[in-house]
Amino acid sequence: MKRYSWHVKIEDYAPLIGDEALERILHKAHRLRDLRVLHLSSTFYGGGVAEMLSSSTLLARSLGIKADWRLIQGSPDFFNVTKKIHNALQGAEINLTDLKKEVYEEIVVQNALRMDMTEYDVVIVHDPQPLPLIHHYRRTCPWIWRCHVDLSQPNPEVMDYLRGFIDEYNAVILSLPEYSQRIAPPQVFIMPAINPFSLKNGELDDAVIRDRLEHYGIPDDEPIVAQVSRFDRWKDPEGVIRAFLLAHEEVDATLVLLGNVASDDPEGQEVFESLLSHKEERIIILTAEDSALVNALQRRAAVVLQKSLREGFGLTVTEAMWKGAAVVGGNCGGIRHQIEDGVNGYLVSTEEETVQRIVQLIRDPAQRKQIGLRARDTVRQRFLMSRLLEQYLDLFSAFEATFSLNHQRVSALGLPVANKMSSDNKSGT
Ligand code: UDP
Repeated sequence: MKRYSWHVKIEDYAPLIGDEALERILHKAHRLRDLRVLHLSSTFYGGGVAEMLSSSTLLARSLGIKADWRLIQGSPDFFNVTKKIHNALQGAEINLTDLKKEVYEEIVVQNALRMDMTEYDVVIVHDPQPLPLIHHYRRTCPWIWRCHVDLSQPNPEVMDYLRGFIDEYNAVILSLPEYSQRIAPPQVFIMPAINPFSLKNGELDDAVIRDRLEHYGIPDDEPIVAQVSRFDRWKDPEGVIRAFLLAHEEVDATLVLLGNVASDDPEGQEVFESLLSHKEERIIILTAEDSALVNALQRRAAVVLQKSLREGFGLTVTEAMWKGAAVVGGNCGGIRHQIEDGVNGYLVSTEEETVQRIVQLIRDPAQRKQIGLRARDTVRQRFLMSRLLEQYLDLFSAFEATFSLNHQRVSALGLPVANKMSSDNKSGT
């Protein structure tokens, strides 16, 4: 089996998913070959959306689906507003002034003016940043809004405002049924997934693991407790440090908080800097864009924490479980759908519970191993990219009845035909 590769094909998944699933996916993809799908998001790196799009678009390509991935551009003001909207969707307060709405909508109009969409059969818009784009195109192909955030308790004011845009879509994809909303489009639930062959998730030699840790000055003379996350308050890094300090009174260990700052997240740097005063010999706080380091840390850690307070899904949990780590995750959002408490990891709701699980797991390597084996199997069965891709294929097929997807006409006639969709901008392009 492959360890890691830049060019993963669906056939590489066969040893993990079996020949029957492989054949099924190949068949579904064959029916949709040459379908031109556009994914639109707001950052190429940092965060789970970029992580998934970089792999899923290439896997789709290898199956003959013409998956494209484009970004919208925005000013710092724009990303300040969209981060507030993101936080409000997860339940935070927001002072949604007319000026903020204007900044948000105006930048999206500018993007619409720049982007010609005539060449696509399906458009998938990720998260709130590009959401209003739909308003500026004449639509003759399906437009899907894919929202990745935890919508369990959205701020009603922001939801009412965004509903105006959401209702224009043909379908909405959410990660979990409990995120469903009072909106017009049909809602489909698709959980995220990982690429098991990427540099972040593939097998790593012990020498490479040691090299990565040494390179960043991470000692492994004592058990490592790690949390890998964007620097974001919802990931509760302060709570992680407090829990670690209490656990450290009972067991020897080193805490590593590894984080990054996504380019569409203006709060990350501030959160990172606010944590630095907690640095000490056994508390390492790092920021690095290094997939091999994420991989090494998740493999070497005795305990991987993901103590989120809200979590749309939590790919870091999936990534760590895939590596057989003992994961302790916040009892919220998508983490609950991955960890079965006490079986393949632990769910925690308080700092006290976190302390207790850290201490227990550090003291019991045999239990860590057992939990880790079950965790890996959970990911193999439920959270691999092949499953995500198959769900996308099913969704595209479901649109065949209502939209004559252009790729079919191409294959029927053997000739390209003009796309029906117009990029005419309603507001004056
Ligand atoms: N990540 C990373 N380096 C870091 C922190 C995070 O590469 O220092 C990656 C992590 O491995 C995962 C993604 O960013 O692939 C985070 O996705 P998740 O769904 O956990 O959270 P999000 O950031 O989307 O809220």
